[in-house]
Amino acid sequence: MKERLQSIKEEALQQIEDVKDSKTLQDLRVKYLGKKGQITEVLKGMGNLSKEERPVIGQLANEIRDAITEALDTKQETLEQAALQQQLKEETVDVTLPGKPSQVGGSHLLMNVIRDIEDLFTGMGYEIAEGPEVETDYYNFEALNLPKGHPARDMQDSFYITEELLMRTHTSPVQARTMNKHEGRGPVKIICPGKVYRRDTDDATHSHQFTQIEGLYVDENIRMSDLKGTLNTLAKHLFGEDRHIRLRPSYFPFTEPSVEMDISCKVCNGHGCSVCKHTGWIEMLGAGLVHPNVLEMAGFDSEKYSGFAFGMGPERIAMLKHGIEDIRHFYTNDVRFLKQFHQV
Ligand SMILES: [Zn+2]
Repeated sequence: MKERLQSIKEEALQQIEDVKDSKTLQDLRVKYLGKKGQITEVLKGMGNLSKEERPVIGQLANEIRDAITEALDTKQETLEQAALQQQLKEETVDVTLPGKPSQVGGSHLLMNVIRDIEDLFTGMGYEIAEGPEVETDYYNFEALNLPKGHPARDMQDSFYITEELLMRTHTSPVQARTMNKHEGRGPVKIICPGKVYRRDTDDATHSHQFTQIEGLYVDENIRMSDLKGTLNTLAKHLFGEDRHIRLRPSYFPFTEPSVEMDISCKVCNGHGCSVCKHTGWIEMLGAGLVHPNVLEMAGFDSEKYSGFAFGMGPERIAMLKHGIEDIRHFYTNDVRFLKQFHQV
């Protein structure tokens, strides 16, 4: 029996020595020390031994059991350490590798232009007003002195939803809506930025959808000189203190008199070049004094109140400011184009 136990010990220690993974090690633990393990099997034969032999064999069996247990525990620890080292090696982070650049967004160039103009006018006491993009025929045309059948309606062909509903062709309906809310009492001092729609064939300078900013100031004793001063401030703010403006007579159904505002060409300083078509001036926006019919229809006494209005296109301003040659760049969402202006 002694020899049997000794050989079990040698065999076990050798096998434990050779083990490469903890699963096999666990199997060995069961094989030698388990309830049905080899040592237990041997000890079952203790009954056949003499009284003198029993304690000797018992002690030997315990010693062998302890030796195997220790060998198993040591091996297990070694395997765990090795596994940990392996894991640490595999999960090493190379901090010298370049990181993934994170994409930083920015606001659209048109939004930048609109916010810049909003800032200027709110600083002069204007409020920002907004209105619906699906508009009634009344607010889009009739309230602005464009009754049904008026020939000037042809200049603003639109997308009609019904006979009386359309996609607004300009931001001017917001004027009429805001004046109505004031119930005939001034002052009304607003700018209205927003999207507008026209049935146009898209090309480098036309789009079926674009943006406008409308301005309106109605109060007692508002005169042409107030309009000119405001537009002068706007032009200098947008294009620099050295710009000049000029007003040319024009026609809009909702203003009387009506003007077009030009700014002096920055490229040639007013001497004439290809940018300004050799005139020294660049067309900027339309404006005028609010037509008495428009005031009356909005419930204002045109004998007491007067006002001015102007409308401009943020696209045109951005194109002039940054030398953009095609209006379609604003809407096609080419990030290479858009991100040039994130910091503008
Ligand atoms: Zn020029």
